[in-house]
Amino acid sequence: MADCIFCEIVSRRISSQFVYEDEESVAFQDISPQAPTHLLIVPKKHIAGLSACRDEDKPLLGHLQRVAARVAEAAGVASGYRLVLNNGRSAGQSVDHLHYHLLGGRSMQWPPG
Ligand code: 5GP
Ligand code: ZN
Repeated sequence: MADCIFCEIVSRRISSQFVYEDEESVAFQDISPQAPTHLLIVPKKHIAGLSACRDEDKPLLGHLQRVAARVAEAAGVASGYRLVLNNGRSAGQSVDHLHYHLLGGRSMQWPPG
């Protein structure tokens, strides 16, 4: 997808260090971390966001959550972390390529802002 920063990262046109990679997904550190651990779980397939997912993407969505749990384990935050998906500008989505935020390493507030 042209002009998509996460497509650029996934395809390594922009260099980024992956903490995890498989055929369908990658995980890497957020450039502006909001917690001691702040990783992004990103599918290699360009999908604009959760609202753009179709039924055929259900296995991918499940896979991304399994990856998040594995990455949380590897990052040492498995006992407490938050998985966030912002969908739409009003929810804080700024990159229109589906991704989960994995936040950990500090206590979290509820409700989120
Ligand atoms: P959103 O606001 O769409 O939920 O999350 C997008 C996230 O991507 C933000 O937390 C932002 O800091 C991160 N981000 C934006 N551009 C880059 C980049 O070029 N590299 C990395 N590693 N993270 C980025
Ligand atoms: Zn993309």
